[in-house]
Amino acid sequence: MRVSRLMLVTLREVPADAEISSHKLLLRGGYIRRVTAGVYAYLPLMWRVLKKIISIIQEEMDSTGALETLLPQLQPAELWEQSGRWQGYTEGEGIMFNLVDRQNRKLGLGPTHEEVITSLAGDILRSYRQLPTTLYQTQTKFRDEIRPRFGLMRSREFIMKDAYSFHATEQSLQDTYEKMDNAYRRIFKRCGIEVLPVDADSGAIGGTASQEFMVPADSGEDLILTSEDNSYSANEEKAISLPLEAKPLTEGKYSVVETPFSGSIEELSSNLEMDPSQIIKVIVMIATLEGNEFQPLLICLRGDQDLNEVKLSNVITNLSKKRVIEITPITPEKISLEGLSPFPFGAIGPDLSDDVLCGARTWIKNFMRISDNTASQLKSFVCGANEIHHHRVFTKWENIAYKPETSDIRKAQPGDKCCHDPKQKLQAKRGIEVGHIFQLGRKYSEVLGSTFTNENGSLEPFWMGCYGIGVSRLAQAVVEQNHDDAGIYWPIAIAPFEVIIVVANIQDSTQSNLGEQLYKKLKENDIDVLLDDRKERAGVKFNDADLIGIPFRIVVGRNAKEGNVELWDRANKTSKLLGQKDAVSEVISEINGSST
Ligand code: ATP
Ligand code: MG
Repeated sequence: MRVSRLMLVTLREVPADAEISSHKLLLRGGYIRRVTAGVYAYLPLMWRVLKKIISIIQEEMDSTGALETLLPQLQPAELWEQSGRWQGYTEGEGIMFNLVDRQNRKLGLGPTHEEVITSLAGDILRSYRQLPTTLYQTQTKFRDEIRPRFGLMRSREFIMKDAYSFHATEQSLQDTYEKMDNAYRRIFKRCGIEVLPVDADSGAIGGTASQEFMVPADSGEDLILTSEDNSYSANEEKAISLPLEAKPLTEGKYSVVETPFSGSIEELSSNLEMDPSQIIKVIVMIATLEGNEFQPLLICLRGDQDLNEVKLSNVITNLSKKRVIEITPITPEKISLEGLSPFPFGAIGPDLSDDVLCGARTWIKNFMRISDNTASQLKSFVCGANEIHHHRVFTKWENIAYKPETSDIRKAQPGDKCCHDPKQKLQAKRGIEVGHIFQLGRKYSEVLGSTFTNENGSLEPFWMGCYGIGVSRLAQAVVEQNHDDAGIYWPIAIAPFEVIIVVANIQDSTQSNLGEQLYKKLKENDIDVLLDDRKERAGVKFNDADLIGIPFRIVVGRNAKEGNVELWDRANKTSKLLGQKDAVSEVISEINGSST
């Protein structure tokens, strides 16, 4: 391809709406253009990168025995109503674009394909003999993200590879999950990107295992906690740890003390001269469950710990057997709506002997009470006293009227000890989620009535797994990991072109002839080569080549007379003067060597 025919328009200025380097560079390099919020055109250079990534993914998926397919993006509401996800995906903060057709039928634009594929599988895969089967596709997904940002990182229309596997047994699901894990590691390695697999939340969907693949980057939206040697890594949503021990509270006499000016745990602990780990703080919230049901929540945490809402949401689902749509702080409006008088929310609940809260008792009973393990383990502690500006000191759980459920609902924090190796401390890193593999279990097949006939002749729901890669996000994450001040340096395997020949002075016939010869030679050897034949200054062409990030640059300049050219390695920033033949053979061997 000749640069003069490439529709290459590079920008010198940094586009105002781009915040992170990869987004700026893709815009500046003429890879993408924004069409509307969170919606981008992939220009020819970008499309070449995406196609190379897609073909690596296809090869690796095919090698696991998965079958490629293409499912519709328009999906009927009924399937989502059957799975119980229509409301959550279309109302409130739901992210599914949805519409009504001319016959007044509701449809959604696919953000993911569990419903469609599970119902198809139930029709087509009828016997255990057809199992296991894995299907995959690469297509545009639609999600009306609340905050689309960072270009292709969080867009509203993006390319995803998604795969779904169907099994007769849980063991078979686990085997395929492991195969996919390995295939994912090969895919990312071949794309030239360093990725950290981390334990991930498997959410309210159930299932036993879920793993995300994270690209470590300061601009990443996810927080990951890792042990010092990376042998344990987990998304913050999922991470568990050994917390610091609470400072033991020596025995003292139970009393209610006045605590003015103690709005925060810090103020309270300094006023009472107690450690935050000796205090139980109470958070009152309200969960909206599927079917628009409200569930008031009373959460207890040790004063030095923070709430992990994802863990909390999973506990609520386990207890109520209902999906959580959202969890919000309780507001005074909500209280008066329920016809209740406000009461001091610092309290865990009334003491057994407490009459103060008689009026609110019925409502208090409706609370789902959940305490974090670390709070439940305290023998003696400080907590609110059901009365404004008062706290109970040296109280015990035995004295509290309603006992909460106990579970791990706190955030693991950097500095906590690793649960697998207490000698190591957890540290925080930011990451970009580029892939996610998931053992779904039988949740979808059960609700959608998707079954097969087992060896004994009876009907049974499938065991299922699902496996996603954000293809367009991955392409940008590669740029985030592979750039410098001058621009991008693509890994060879996914670079839009592998070599660019820059003819310094196109008017000089020796130079332009040599450029043409090299171009022909490389093309004959199946190298993706660009020839910069523009009538621009050499400096402009070098800058563009660095910006768009072609791995090798052959400069045909003054030395062309002697048949010599300069070979520039974009990533390593090294150059050498070589005879034209050597330059060609070196480039070919580097490129072919990189793919083995
Ligand atoms: P996130 O937590 O980032 O919103 P997710 O967990 O909802 O992502 P999945 O349903 O697991 O996403 O989708 C599979 C993959 O698709 C993700 O690992 C990610 O790489 C990619 N992806 C998800 N949402 C977007 C988006 N808005 N823009 C680009 N890629 C996305
Ligand atoms: Mg995910």
